[in-house]
Amino acid sequence: MNEGNECLRCGGANVKPGALQSTGKVYVRPSDAKLETFLKTGVLVNVNICFDCGHVEMVVVPDKLKSIMKAC
Ligand SMILES: [Zn+2]
Repeated sequence: MNEGNECLRCGGANVKPGALQSTGKVYVRPSDAKLETFLKTGVLVNVNICFDCGHVEMVVVPDKLKSIMKAC
């Protein structure tokens, strides 16, 4: 997570971590990944929310993404 970082849009420092939600958590899946691998594991999308301008930055843990791609 980029907690404590400046907002990429406005440069503000009032950025807090959070989660992007629908009826459940949201995961990313690279287009060349096998679907069943990501259904079992997935890479959770975390967000950083700027309380100054409303910008929402989506982030994943790169090491998690790389380890899942190796399993595909
Ligand atoms: Zn901002």
